[in-house]
Amino acid sequence: MIIILGCGESGFGAALLAQAQGLKVFVSDGLKIRESFRNELIEREIDFEEEGHSIIYDCHPELVIQSPGIPDAAEPIQFFKEKKIAIISEIELAFRYCTGKIIAITGSNGKTTTTNLTHHILVTAGLDAVKVGNVGVSFCRSLAAGAHQYYVVEVSSFQLDTTDRFQPDIAVILNITPDHLDRYGHDMGRYAAAKFRIAKNQHKENHLILYRDAGIEKYVPSMQQDGPQIHWVETTMDDSENVSINGETRFQLQQARLKGRHNAMNLACAAAACSLLGITDEIIQRAVDSFVNDAHRLELIDEINGVQYINDSKATNVDSVYWALDAMRTSIIWIAGGQDKGNDYTVIDPLVKTKVRALIALGKDNSKLLQHYEGIVPVFDTHAMEDAVRIGSQQAFKGDVVLLSPACASFDLFSNYIHRGNEFRSAVMKLKTEYAA
Ligand code: ADP
Repeated sequence: MIIILGCGESGFGAALLAQAQGLKVFVSDGLKIRESFRNELIEREIDFEEEGHSIIYDCHPELVIQSPGIPDAAEPIQFFKEKKIAIISEIELAFRYCTGKIIAITGSNGKTTTTNLTHHILVTAGLDAVKVGNVGVSFCRSLAAGAHQYYVVEVSSFQLDTTDRFQPDIAVILNITPDHLDRYGHDMGRYAAAKFRIAKNQHKENHLILYRDAGIEKYVPSMQQDGPQIHWVETTMDDSENVSINGETRFQLQQARLKGRHNAMNLACAAAACSLLGITDEIIQRAVDSFVNDAHRLELIDEINGVQYINDSKATNVDSVYWALDAMRTSIIWIAGGQDKGNDYTVIDPLVKTKVRALIALGKDNSKLLQHYEGIVPVFDTHAMEDAVRIGSQQAFKGDVVLLSPACASFDLFSNYIHRGNEFRSAVMKLKTEYAA
């Protein structure tokens, strides 16, 4: 028997795959299970409990699947650990049943963008590829629905924590910067080690692509002799948005919707993976030109009275804000704030001083941002998106951008970053109607 702890997208997918493989499955969720998932569990006769764990303590599973949202300290995890039952992640389960080639992508920032882009390049090249993981459908759910030749998998450090045999054909680590440190005892070394687990089982026929910067270099563990082939990549981008990789100009972003030096880094890593699969630069450039990223990542919402409104709600840590500020070519009215993750803003201060015309703090408690930036830039204290956008429009000059790039989690005022970004879009649309009236 297999127990699945947590029934979000990945737990639900694990239940479907395990059942398809003929295993007996029991699903247990501490909260209410999403209605569509609950209905399907019933329809498929998969047993479950919700809003608390109790039945599981009388079960005798051979294997437990830990959903990424369930921390190690959770009671059921501790219980099965003590009983010495193997606990694995959903991607580990998927790996055990996957016959396609796996390209796995991790990093602190840029995972979704690089996963989407890599997948788009493979599809543009005519290959049978799917993208799975945090991007939409879980790896297990996709496998349960049928096999494909290539799987581009977005992998978080939480999922890597509980891998065992996971061995991607190509692994990518984009960057390692502070995030989720509360889950790793505020220890960057432990967080980085979780990221490097992506390569733990790789052999010499596998590839590990690493973006060359100090954040990664100092954490590379010593690899075994028959470990993966390592490919370091680094990029530069000139004012005409020509992208050079390891000194050779190969792509350009002028026609592309992808903007900013961080996206040149994502492109370099995606291109490195695709080149290993024999895809030409011409096809990669074609894919880059037609690529549309997911919403909430430097997404241009609209231009009103010569001011652009950009939604970067997914920027939930300081590093992603650094790159958002870096990517802007005009003065910025910066909307930031929310639930603080122990942020150190000093790393972005030079950019703020040179590019930000005003900061609009948007959160339940803005004291940290207010204290840090008072005297550096004009700061406004707001607690609702509509107010933030309205003040933004009043502070902006023609040619400026109003940029929502929060550096914080959204849970103080919104249900998640998507809700926050959607509220930004609605507030901008409302503003547009008011201006038009
Ligand atoms: P993830 O899936 O790792 O959260 P996303 O692609 O969803 O990454 O992007 C999250 C945020 O990080 C967005 O604000 C985006 O603009 C920014 N970002 C994207 N790529 C990078 C990168 N390579 N380095 C730093 N920030 C990035």
